[in-house]
Amino acid sequence: MNQKHYSQDLNKIVDSHCHLDFKDFDSDRDKIVNNAKLTNVDYLLTISVNLEDFEKVHEVTQNYENIWCTTGIHPNNVSSETDTIQLDDIQNKISENLKNKKVVGLGETGLDFFRGKKNRTNQIESFMLHLFLSGEKKYPTIVHTRDADNDTINCLNESVKKYSSTGLIHCFTSTKQFAKKALDNGFYISFSGIITFKNAIDLVDVVKYVPADKLLVETDSPFLAPVPFRGKRNEPSYVNYTLEKISEIKKIKKQELINITTKNFFTLFSKIKNDY
Ligand SMILES: [Zn+2]
Repeated sequence: MNQKHYSQDLNKIVDSHCHLDFKDFDSDRDKIVNNAKLTNVDYLLTISVNLEDFEKVHEVTQNYENIWCTTGIHPNNVSSETDTIQLDDIQNKISENLKNKKVVGLGETGLDFFRGKKNRTNQIESFMLHLFLSGEKKYPTIVHTRDADNDTINCLNESVKKYSSTGLIHCFTSTKQFAKKALDNGFYISFSGIITFKNAIDLVDVVKYVPADKLLVETDSPFLAPVPFRGKRNEPSYVNYTLEKISEIKKIKKQELINITTKNFFTLFSKIKNDY
């Protein structure tokens, strides 16, 4: 057999959410991926935010061994005109994209009412479509939620019951109550560099609350650089700072936390196989 082989080494770190295709990385993408490797961040999931840029996201995964990607539409990219959301079209394109081996998840999707609720119905329809495909095709959903906790939970409750959807809440910044409802639906919780910010007091309590076997870490790079790089461009290697902070909060040794979060990642993203 002439297959390319790689092993799921639990001693290596996963950045479960970054945007490597963004133009922020156009000038030094190789260096950024190498920086990550040098700091033990060996597994990267680069996240789609629309269908138009899917090819660019997917191309990144073709250039490196341990980088996978997702396909889907960020709530901020959902059409605001009621009559222009083409669900059949979207479903066909996403289903087509899922046929690629390196595509291992759906999203990011979810609900974002930070700029108002004008297209709330479209956002919910798009979110529910991703959740339907999650259950139907057995891919986890990456959920973004902002100022929309109630609607997000209603969608999860309904889709987990109806379709057996799976997934995670990405860049978690909400309450313990919200975390509980997501966990009750079997969803994982992913924390970003925000946990290192001085004012993240309530979030510390949520980190304490979330069971280790439901925990993931991410950068959301190029956004949200952790302390001591706050305000600068974020990159996958910085997920180390998030791990260190969570290790301190949960009183779990960093290396053990790496083993746990990496195992959680490969459990949830079960389409990633040991052999290609
Ligand atoms: Zn993102």
